[in-house]
Amino acid sequence: MTEAGAGSDAAAVATTAEKKGDCYILNGTKQWITNGGEAEVYTVIASVDRSKGARGAAAFILEKGMPGFEFGKKEDKMGIRASVTRELVFTDCKVPKENLLGREGLGFVVAMKTFDQSRPGVASQALGIAQGALDLTLEYVKERRQFGKSISSFQGVQFMLVDMATEIEAARALVYAAARMIDSGAKKISKDSAMAKLFTSDMAMKVTTDCVQLFGGYGYMRDYPIEKYMRDAKITQIYEGTNQIQRSVIAAHLIKQSTA
Ligand SMILES: Cc1cc2nc3c(=O)[nH]c(=O)nc-3n(C[C@H](O)[C@H](O)[C@H](O)COP(=O)(O)OP(=O)(O)OC[C@H]3O[C@@H](n4cnc5c(N)ncnc54)[C@H](O)[C@@H]3O)c2cc1C
Repeated sequence: MTEAGAGSDAAAVATTAEKKGDCYILNGTKQWITNGGEAEVYTVIASVDRSKGARGAAAFILEKGMPGFEFGKKEDKMGIRASVTRELVFTDCKVPKENLLGREGLGFVVAMKTFDQSRPGVASQALGIAQGALDLTLEYVKERRQFGKSISSFQGVQFMLVDMATEIEAARALVYAAARMIDSGAKKISKDSAMAKLFTSDMAMKVTTDCVQLFGGYGYMRDYPIEKYMRDAKITQIYEGTNQIQRSVIAAHLIKQSTA
């Protein structure tokens, strides 16, 4: 979906898909695509009619190796460095009309329904990062000694650990609730899905920052992997829709529900 000029405003995609006989001809560049170049199959949102904005979008299934489909710049990222993020470049890329997913005009709907399902996935990623950081921190605070004692014996440290553990469990409950809702086949999941992603990613950023704090100066160095958890947590507040966008999604549903 994402392009240089179309991030939160996904309806602004400039990649075009022009119908020609039995094919669509795609032209444009997608940026920051997770697994770009590694994946064999891609879902691409392009515009069949730019004058219609979101209603002019369509979703296409593309395969690696299709003529006119190439990979561009590989990003050098702050975190999740084990995951490739890359540009996709389409130059007169011929896509058979059978590869249209849904109908013309439904591209934005396909994308939003996908986000409803995938946001709890990002929430799970954030939850795992937070839990992993806390596990490492618990080991460290028991070992690290200052003032002749283990730093885990200080109430100031204990209270931080307690807040982290409690917030992780609250987030876990929200993620599992959203996952159960999806598994039950429920249709209206946007709000719960966005809430799980919002709360868990904000929690992961706070928890990992506090974990670095409890490692003290060592937390700021690369001697321990704790700083990596903090860098990795940050992306969960940004992708699959930033947390400001999650708040907008939740607000729209809250207001709609209360007036229904
Ligand atoms: C590592 C990585 C992997 C990614 N993988 C993919 C991928 O596989 N596929 C894909 O399509 N995209 C992917 N993205 C893109 C990602 O989804 C976007 O970066 C994200 O949606 C935000 O868009 P933007 O970066 O253009 O920020 P912008 O939209 O420019 O936003 C900038 C700031 O303004 C705020 N803002 C914007 N609009 C509003 C508003 N209406 N109200 C309040 N605040 C607002 C944002 O919250 C943000 O803080 C990836 C990004 C990264 C960094």
